[in-house]
Amino acid sequence: MEYLSENGLDPTSFPSVVKFETEVISMAAAHLGGDDAVVGNFTSGGTESCILAVKTARDYARAERGITEPEVILPTTAHAAFQKGCHYLGCKPVLVDVNTTTFEADVEKVREAITDNTILIVGSACSYAHGTVDPITEMAALAAENGILMHVDGCLGGFLLPFFKQLGVDVPPFDFSVPGVTSMSMDFHKYAFAAKGASSVLYKNKDLRRYQIYTCASWTGYSISNPTFQSSKSAGPLASAWAVLNFIGQDGYVAMAKKMLDGFNQLKSYVADHPDLEIMGRPRMNLLAFESSTVSLFEVADLMKARGWYIQPQLGYGGSKENIHINVNPNCVKWMDDMLKDLGECVEEAKSAKQSALATMVKAAFADLNPADMSPEIFSQMLGMAGMSGAEVPEKMAEINEVLNSLPTALRARLLTEFMNDLFVYEGSK
Ligand SMILES: *Cc1c(COP(=O)(O)O)cnc(C)c1O
Repeated sequence: MEYLSENGLDPTSFPSVVKFETEVISMAAAHLGGDDAVVGNFTSGGTESCILAVKTARDYARAERGITEPEVILPTTAHAAFQKGCHYLGCKPVLVDVNTTTFEADVEKVREAITDNTILIVGSACSYAHGTVDPITEMAALAAENGILMHVDGCLGGFLLPFFKQLGVDVPPFDFSVPGVTSMSMDFHKYAFAAKGASSVLYKNKDLRRYQIYTCASWTGYSISNPTFQSSKSAGPLASAWAVLNFIGQDGYVAMAKKMLDGFNQLKSYVADHPDLEIMGRPRMNLLAFESSTVSLFEVADLMKARGWYIQPQLGYGGSKENIHINVNPNCVKWMDDMLKDLGECVEEAKSAKQSALATMVKAAFADLNPADMSPEIFSQMLGMAGMSGAEVPEKMAEINEVLNSLPTALRARLLTEFMNDLFVYEGSK
């Protein structure tokens, strides 16, 4: 709290902020198998870390390889933040299908996607959607062979996986100890339990990190040299991360990891044994996604919500069917028995739910439409039909999810954009 309104803008004026950052980053580097050459920065979140990794790769490839039309290879399980980065930074995202049994990146498909313009290959450890770890060793070797950079997204798993490994979980190599890995991202505001706004991006060495830094000396104000996107920024999240890491410590994190692992194993066996549910791929951490071919999981999510549980539905994409994603946090474990009992009952209840007539109709009506040809009014009407108009998030989401799930992705994305655009409008005090 003391640092909440301190400014992280200028490291020369705020030496304590530099001390926090270098200490936190050196802990991160050591945690991720980095040697003394590994450097990095503290960022506001996983998204910023991922976008910075793309920016560094783009500027490195431009300077060192003369690449002007950069491409980034992304298995479809890679976090959306990388596509966002490509969008902001003028890089072409090259999406590559994953193995739909394991939900791990398919190395052969990655190989086929490489061109002379490829600047970066991204692997996940673990992926957000399914909790799976990509074959980082093979992907990084492929990258190195082709003179391409390799980023491992450890936003979610970078912090926890080393502890899970310590506890005997089978975790394939994924960090800086793997030859060819050139950068990594790791969040503190996920499984290090720091306050939100805390992540890191790390590079194999300073020669690479140089391309992350933006400097502007050509204006009339103070010279700007920013390693990350923000200039003036609160030092609060950094101080929080430093304090929490030191407060909990190795032993504390191992104890929490053990708790999450036990809870997760209970969840995993329950889902594995349930005749209507199927675990997707090989989850390696404390989260999993499951699909069903007998019940609507959107319906299950709503029924669970009505009983006070928030479980996250994920829409289908590529070879990944619509599913439910659950992660197990230390403070959830005590409710595991209750949750699983309710989950079982909700799955039974959902069996009597009717197919959404609206979704079927929408699917037929909009399948061939190009969102670029459609007016904002049409989107408003569609949102209204799906019960998504107005400035409130609807209670029952099953039908809306069903509709979104049935739409082509370009249309799905456009509809969500319109929804957001309507949501953030001040309508006076109600
Ligand atoms: C959460 C997450 C991100 C993005 O992080 P934010 O902190 O939400 O910006 C990136 N990659 C993975 C695998 C994640 O789980």
